[in-house]
Amino acid sequence: MRNDHVIVIGGGVIGAASAYYLAKSGWQVTVVDQGAFGRGCSHGNCGIISPSHVLPLAAPGALWGALRAMMRRNAPFSIKPRLDLGLWRWLAGFARRCTMRNVRESGEAIQALLRSSRTLYDELMATDLHGCEWETRGLLFVLRTEHGMAHFAETDRLLRELFDMLAVRFDGDAVATLEPALKPGLAGGWYYRGDAHLRPDRLMAAWRHALESLGVQIREQCGVTGFVGEQGTARAVRVLARRASEGLPRLRVGLTELAGEAFVVATGAWTPLLNQVLGCRIPIQPGKGYSMTMPRPARCPVLPMIFDEDRVAVTPMQSGYRLGSMMEFAGYDTSLRPRRLALLREGARHYLHEPFTEPVEEEWYGWRPMTPDSVPIIDWSPAYRNVLIAAGHNMLGVSMAPATGKLVAEMFGGGVPHLEARAYSLARF
Ligand SMILES: Cc1cc2nc3c(=O)[nH]c(=O)nc-3n(C[C@H](O)[C@H](O)[C@H](O)COP(=O)(O)OP(=O)(O)OC[C@H]3O[C@@H](n4cnc5c(N)ncnc54)[C@H](O)[C@@H]3O)c2cc1C
Repeated sequence: MRNDHVIVIGGGVIGAASAYYLAKSGWQVTVVDQGAFGRGCSHGNCGIISPSHVLPLAAPGALWGALRAMMRRNAPFSIKPRLDLGLWRWLAGFARRCTMRNVRESGEAIQALLRSSRTLYDELMATDLHGCEWETRGLLFVLRTEHGMAHFAETDRLLRELFDMLAVRFDGDAVATLEPALKPGLAGGWYYRGDAHLRPDRLMAAWRHALESLGVQIREQCGVTGFVGEQGTARAVRVLARRASEGLPRLRVGLTELAGEAFVVATGAWTPLLNQVLGCRIPIQPGKGYSMTMPRPARCPVLPMIFDEDRVAVTPMQSGYRLGSMMEFAGYDTSLRPRRLALLREGARHYLHEPFTEPVEEEWYGWRPMTPDSVPIIDWSPAYRNVLIAAGHNMLGVSMAPATGKLVAEMFGGGVPHLEARAYSLARF
């Protein structure tokens, strides 16, 4: 299949990494995106590359947490109750998986992608990805109450005993000695040395540069609406192209077809909108998160941190400073709610001497592609033998992208798969 044309649908971090490894293994690649490359969920996220984030969300006790969240207004985790069959099916799938067996099985599948990606990032940063503000300083979880410490101690035990993921524990003010941007009087924290961080929009710019250097074509404002094919083989994608007419501010819309020998569907949280053309029911719900980006404070943290009890993540980037998080199951809701952004500020206030600065450079939301077991889907479409789905990377798409892209290229014949692809199959649903 070498030198044949593959069309990657979706220019997020998963589509970009897939396009990169496909181009490296000899394919002629085109990436198409309904909007602008890199402007979906991969744009304003927290940029933490986190091999320590192994545990799936569905775990014993998590169901009660989810149900309680449905009752509370303004909780960092919220579900908007509504008559949406997809949401209720998703919640039922989540409920079924709130077991230790799921923690073990899903955790193994997640860890394989995280570990491999962390190693691949080291290679990529040394070769083809430049200017991403890449730093390998680890990740610090900070707790402000003894209750939070006791709860996290259980998380740490699971990570250590089941996944060999070791952390250093800091009690009381020792955590503020490690990270002087923290206030005194906090309960403590856990430090995971192997994590890293970067600036996500710069990462996407670096992917774009690397792809264009490899001859990959990027076509923006091209929404894929379906496939053209026969006998289970797709021959082309149907594209709704929107482009500005010459000299006129109005957009022109046109239907066109793009021919290819193979196709990758890397459409993140939008993937279930293609259910009919893919011939299956993709169990992904958009999990909306928010971030705000500001100039670096004078007492800027050195380490990226997660304030677990308030569900706020802090990323100190070389050219800025970001607070992010929240998880709203509210469908494809496009509102940027000020109350949600205020929760980020209020959460960070408990921990940091200088929790935020002015002016705010960007307020942002993104839809995480959430699956019920926290494991991505990397599998062939039941409708077409040459259409591969790579979506559902939950809260860890940036952390899992390189290994996903490599596996995608391998599944298209680019070598023996370096990971067991069965763990990501659609058959598990
Ligand atoms: C607040 C927040 C913080 C986060 N922090 C982290 C973090 O620290 N570390 C981490 O690893 N992950 C983090 N994540 C998760 C991460 O951002 C996502 O998992 C990841 O970006 C998903 O990448 P993707 O390529 O699958 O989706 P996207 O980046 O959303 O890309 C999908 C693309 O497909 C395009 N598309 C959709 N439908 C079509 C169509 N029909 N035709 C053409 N194009 C289409 C879209 O326009 C979009 O560009 C965070 C997420 C949020 C919201």
